Parts: sequence; C-alpha cells; structure tokens
Amino acid sequence: MTPRNGSAVFYRDLTGAPPLILHGEGVYLEDADGRRYLDGSASASVVGIGHGRREIWDALAAEGGRVTFVYSGGFTHPWQERLAAAILDLAPANMAAVYFTSGGSEANESAWKLARQYFVEQGKHQKYKAIARWQSYHGVTLATLSLSGRTSWRQIYAPLLLPVPHVAPPYEYRCAFCERSGGCTLACADDLERTILLEGPDTVAVFFAEPIVGTTVAGLVPHSGYYRRIREICDRYDVLFVADEVLCGYGRSGAPFAIAGWDVEPDIITLGKALGSGYAPLAAMLVSDKIRQVFLEGSGRFVHGLTYSGTPSACFVGLKVHEIMLREGLFTRAKGLGGVLKSKLLELAGRHEIIGEVRGRGLLQGIELVADRKSRRPFPPGERVTERVVRHMRDNGVIVAAGVPLANFGRDGDHLQISPPFIITGQEISIIVEALDDALRSVQ
Ligand code: PLP
Repeated sequence: MTPRNGSAVFYRDLTGAPPLILHGEGVYLEDADGRRYLDGSASASVVGIGHGRREIWDALAAEGGRVTFVYSGGFTHPWQERLAAAILDLAPANMAAVYFTSGGSEANESAWKLARQYFVEQGKHQKYKAIARWQSYHGVTLATLSLSGRTSWRQIYAPLLLPVPHVAPPYEYRCAFCERSGGCTLACADDLERTILLEGPDTVAVFFAEPIVGTTVAGLVPHSGYYRRIREICDRYDVLFVADEVLCGYGRSGAPFAIAGWDVEPDIITLGKALGSGYAPLAAMLVSDKIRQVFLEGSGRFVHGLTYSGTPSACFVGLKVHEIMLREGLFTRAKGLGGVLKSKLLELAGRHEIIGEVRGRGLLQGIELVADRKSRRPFPPGERVTERVVRHMRDNGVIVAAGVPLANFGRDGDHLQISPPFIITGQEISIIVEALDDALRSVQ
C-alpha cells in the first residue's frame, strides 16, 4: 500500500515529507530540488567536523573492514582501545576508562546503572535514586526521559516514567531565587542539597547535569561557582556526579570538555554527537578511577551489555574524527569563533528589542526571545515565535534549531539554538546572523 505522503518512512512529522538531502559538504546541505542550506545547527549539534569528509570513507574502505564485529561481552579490538585512550588523553585527570555506546541516551542510561551498581558493590543497597534538573535533556529512553526536564516530551509518557526529583536549574535570567536576593547566591545549587536531604541521602545515588545546557534553554552557562558547589554537595552525601556532555562536549564549548571551564572533576562524563560527528552512531561513558577501583575490588563486572558497544566501524570512524579534530585544532577552534558569533548576536540584540538574552559558550549559543525586554515577559505560547523564526530562516536557506521550553505555561518562552560545525568561518557566521536579522524583523 502506498503511504499517504508517498514515503514508507515513519517520519517524526507525518504531515508531510521533509526535504530529501542528497549532498553535504562543509557547513552546507543540498536537497533534491537543488536548494542549499547553511547548517547552523550542525544537524542537532552532531556534525562537528563538517559534512562530506571523504577521507573518513576512504580510510574506512582501506582499513576499516579488517574487523567487522566483535561482541564486547568477551572481546575487544584495536580501534576501541585506541579511541578510549585518545579520549582519556583529553579528559579530566580522574577519568580512567571508557564504555562505548551508540547514542547519548544509551550512555546516560548506562551511567545511571553504573552508579547504582557502584553502590551495590559497596553494600549500600538502598542507594539507587537519581536527581536531575528542570531545563535539562538526557535522552528519550524511559529512564533518561525520566531524568530529563523537557516537560513537553515527558507529558504523554508520564505514567511510564521513573520518579526522578528535579531541582532548580542555574537559569539566572529567570531565577526565582535571584529575583528575591538581588543576585546569584547559588541557591539553585543548594536546591540539590535540600532535595537530597528530603529524599534521604542513603537513597540517592547520582546527580545528572548538562554542564552547559543544549536543547532546552540553549546555551545556559551556570555561574562560575555553581559546579564547585555541586561537587561539594555530592561529596558530602556520597552522591555521584554525572556531567552529560553529549551535546556540549567534545569541542562544542571551545574545549574538549565543557566542565573543565569550572575546574571540577565529575565521576562520570557522557559524550555523543560530535564524537562520531554523524559519520557513525557513537557515544561514550567515561568512568572515573574511583568507580573503576570499586568495581575491581568488588565483583569485577559491570552487569550491563549493549550488543552495539564499541562497534568496530563506529570506533574506527571515531578515531578518524579524533585525528581530524586534533590536526585542525577543532577542539578549541569553537572558542574564537564562538566569540565572533556571540558578538554578532549581541550586536543584533542592540537592534531587536525582541532579544531578551544572548548566552552560551563556544559554538553553543542560545537566544531567548521575549515579548517585553524590560519585564522579560515571554510571548504567549500560541504565537509560536520560535517556530516562525526557524521556518523563516530555513526558507532563506539557513538552519538553526528551536530550543524546547520547559513547558507551555508561559513562564519561559522562546529559545533559539545556534550550534554550527566547528569548521564554520566568520563569513558563514555572518550569513547566519543576517538570516536571523531578517527572520526577527518578519515576526515583529
Ligand atoms: N544528552 C544530551 C545533553 C542531549 O542533547 C541528547 C540529545 O540531544 C542526549 C543526551 C540524547 O542523545 P541521543 O539522542 O544520541 O540518544
């Protein structure tokens, strides 16, 4: 039977077929009608090294086929070994081992399970709970959606979700604590302590946070003292700290690891997206020495196993991506270019009252759009301002992502996420900002 829209694919939006992309090169994508798009989103913040790198496919064809597949339950292979070592070379000093997965949700789900087993290994059987933050996203599986504070994606599945307490996000622009105290007192970090105490410290295993928020309130960079306070609280109550760097990690913030900006060592770090840069489904969970030691002195075995963990072709591609990142200085390139992007966005804010705040680090920049800048009043959700801006820009050949607000209750509103490939040039950044300028004029 021919489907209504002529495609056999179950698209996320079934009301019509999305553009059929036939070619990608650098920061550009081209569809079947010959339309070119400047990919200012790096396609969901994935394609760090840019589209269409032939050398990856050439290398895969030349040597990548030597080992098709080995099961990680009992075997390993050189590319997994080398990629793990290469990642650890750049990671915070306390990281000791890497567990590979295919996607970020799997990495975060693995992290929660690892945290649980870490405490079981020590006889602390009551410790199993995870705490996370509102305005965060950790994945789509039931456990990781339970962690996520992305309300609009949670609502339908609410009866299936695990009970995860969510604490206040470090969202200074709309912080109820700051409003009352006239400045940041890190009360949002202390909300973690309050929640651990309410839940019972003997029951709490792990706290999840994106060091810099990606897909919800895009580009949210917490106060300089925030993660140190989080670390202290986690240490005080024997709670593991997971830094979810699936989006903000691996170069996007202008450093290999975003958490380094706070000089704090998490217990687990998850990576994804730019790690495979879209050339392979690849993500990872980095495990600290403290955790590894507990396993070594305990059962010696992580009770977990994904069929596709450390998949040879994915690790091979990951190594090639890593080589390119090092060779072209892409781990830090986003720092300078992020500065260029941010100053152009701030310039734009000078001309558009609708821009409430520009925030972000490196090539992860976010904009919050407001109906009234002075009072920070958001637009009514029904006006769908972000959606209109994103569509207008796409019609003009520039892709940026819509941030997903916490909920459609009107308290926090419209967010745009600009996160281009790390290879973008200053000139291409100007094209994005000009398209944004035009789109903002169209919605006012
Ligand atoms: N964590 C963060 C911070 C993300 O942004 C995402 C995806 O956008 C995920 C986890 C989930 O990763 P995946 O979609 O690869 O499962």
